[in-house]
Amino acid sequence: MNKVSVIGAGTMGNGIAHVFAMKGYTVHLCDISQDALDRALATISKNLDRMVAKEKISADDKASTLSNIHTFTDMKAGVSDAELVVEAATENVDLKLKIFKDLDSFTSSDCILATNTSSISITKIASVCSNPDKVIGMHFMNPVPIMKLVEVIRGYHTSDVVTDTIMELSKKLGKVPTEVNDYPGFIANRILMPMINEAIYSLYEGVAGVEEIDTVMKLGMAHPMGPLQLADFIGLDVCMSILEVLYKGFGQDKYAPCPLLVNMVTAGDKGRKSGRGFYDYSGGGKELVVASNFSK
Ligand code: NAD
Repeated sequence: MNKVSVIGAGTMGNGIAHVFAMKGYTVHLCDISQDALDRALATISKNLDRMVAKEKISADDKASTLSNIHTFTDMKAGVSDAELVVEAATENVDLKLKIFKDLDSFTSSDCILATNTSSISITKIASVCSNPDKVIGMHFMNPVPIMKLVEVIRGYHTSDVVTDTIMELSKKLGKVPTEVNDYPGFIANRILMPMINEAIYSLYEGVAGVEEIDTVMKLGMAHPMGPLQLADFIGLDVCMSILEVLYKGFGQDKYAPCPLLVNMVTAGDKGRKSGRGFYDYSGGGKELVVASNFSK
């Protein structure tokens, strides 16, 4: 396998393109937005510069990585000769179903169709494709060039051959793949999101402040980042939508997003990307927010 198309050039898509291109794959990076493609190339270049400065790669490696990436706003042209497509477009079920329906008609019947979705059912995505055995979850973690895990998710019809191919491919990218079955939240988010939600509930109920909650989990559990800071990093809107998938998928109240999380997302405080969440990022750093409306 040599030709990989990546759909969506946002946070995850640019990282996925980066790791494939660095391993010598020809990458077709597709997005509906030319701006997103330009930003993605600038981000990849900046991230490669950092690796050159740390002497992890040479300037020649940087040049060859960038030369392996080609950008497309026309998805049909971008995937026509792909052997693997990794979809990393916006987390929206209708959008993903539309993309996979198109991919089904634009790609050859032996092309593997992978999705980086955080929470949408692989089986549901595969249901709009004529070869559901070729559809699989390839869930990279953010930031993709640094994080080792790839959660490989088997849909109801995903074949052994396709699963083995993606497991081996992930290892070739220098990642550690872990195979899981297709149930709400898979493993990563099924465990992570209730922990984040419980941290938000602890704040909402006035058990402790933001700094105290994050310190307990950092120093007490050896987590590199506290759950509230991590929620800001992931995006509070993303956390809320994953919790809604868990809540709907399992029908259990324990997954219902905390009312404080819902309020913050509704008010536009989405974490790092909006400049403010449990911390304030507007000055470029990370400042503690003293907010009386965190408690109920
Ligand atoms: P993002 O918003 O940063 O980027 C999404 C990109 O998709 C945008 O550039 C948008 O223009 C593009 N797009 C929208 N419709 C498209 C279409 N029809 N064709 C091509 N491109 C299209 O989102 P992200 O954070 O990179 O998330 C992408 C996927 O990765 C989601 O499924 C998300 O759940 C998953 N994911 C995200 C994270 C994370 O921490 N951000 C981690 C793991 C998985």
